[in-house]
Amino acid sequence: MLTRTHAYFFAEGHAVLEARAAAFSGAGTIRARVAALGAAGLLERRDTRSLAVVRRQLAYRDPLDDLAFVIQELGCTPLERAGALPEVVAEARAGRRVLVFGLTEPEAGSDVRGIRTVAEPDGAGWRLTGTKHFISNAPEADGAVVFARVGETVGCFYVAAPPTSAQHVAAHSIGRLELDGTPATKVADKGFALAFATLERCRPSVGAAAVGLAARALHETIAHVRRRHQFGAPLAALPVVRLRVAEMGVELETATLATLHACHTRDAAGPTERTGYQSAVGKLVATEAAQRIIDQAVQLHGGAGVEEDAIVQRLYRAVRPLRIYEGATDVLYSAVAEHLLGAP
Ligand SMILES: Cc1cc2nc3c(=O)[nH]c(=O)nc-3n(C[C@H](O)[C@H](O)[C@H](O)COP(=O)(O)OP(=O)(O)OC[C@H]3O[C@@H](n4cnc5c(N)ncnc54)[C@H](O)[C@@H]3O)c2cc1C
Repeated sequence: MLTRTHAYFFAEGHAVLEARAAAFSGAGTIRARVAALGAAGLLERRDTRSLAVVRRQLAYRDPLDDLAFVIQELGCTPLERAGALPEVVAEARAGRRVLVFGLTEPEAGSDVRGIRTVAEPDGAGWRLTGTKHFISNAPEADGAVVFARVGETVGCFYVAAPPTSAQHVAAHSIGRLELDGTPATKVADKGFALAFATLERCRPSVGAAAVGLAARALHETIAHVRRRHQFGAPLAALPVVRLRVAEMGVELETATLATLHACHTRDAAGPTERTGYQSAVGKLVATEAAQRIIDQAVQLHGGAGVEEDAIVQRLYRAVRPLRIYEGATDVLYSAVAEHLLGAP
């Protein structure tokens, strides 16, 4: 438990929340998991370290529980920051409404300033036209927070029951929002400011999910190398295997520290203070380390590590997108360079 091993990062209340997350076990569709998370009181608005302790626990046991958890957070945060649609937020935080976060488009990925979805006024409301893709949980969305152009600026909108189509990414629930004159409610004028603030709050916790996946991989590997005998002894007796497991442990420690530092920095900062540098460092260090740890776990399982139902094989698929979404690693390196060197 992070609140025990890294107690100095935490405050009162975090340990209770972490224990609650550790006891949680979801199943079935994203909708069912969101409902169960709401019933367990895990979806209430909390600080970034809380997101981290919950995500570390959920990702350790089932990455789909983590996905259900964090996408609700991504959907609720812009509405809360804008003080808009409190009834939608209340339903989502109770687990009764699946919300999604619609920023990315086919021609606007890392460079979201290229988004083409447009919003046009329609009486008291708005209509949105365009395609959002790679939207987590879109196939089960009850509502979507969508960023769209209004002339030269970008606003933030809410779409109830958005039209969707499925995409297929291993170990993930994902799809497109197919908006074609779809009715929407305006949330705020300054859409990008809301989107970036939301990502800054959630991004450090991606590292915590990575740490959860990597910790599971390490524990599975320790059990495996103790159990599996080759050359007349357990694999755990071979010096090189021992070194590899030790490396995994050291990487996991580094990843955990980088993540918790980023989360703590976000929580200690004022609401208008930017902590993008620490968020970028925490996310990229942890997700890159988790990928290496899990790759090593598969290697130490040998052929058993790539069997269809092997846990480490599922972790391998689950960890990969974490290095891409909410800022691909090299995009984050660019942000770190800009922080250190200024704009090119
Ligand atoms: C599983 C999954 C879930 C997702 N969920 C959501 C969601 O819920 N909502 C949402 O809005 N979006 C979501 N996304 C989209 C995600 O945020 C984008 O995939 C991501 O921002 C990268 O955009 P892209 O895929 O278009 O890649 P591109 O922008 O085409 O980038 C491809 C690669 O080019 C390199 N690159 C690009 N720009 C730079 C740069 N400035 N410096 C250095 N290298 C660079 C990087 O290596 C990068 O990985 C999700 C994506 C995935 C895979």
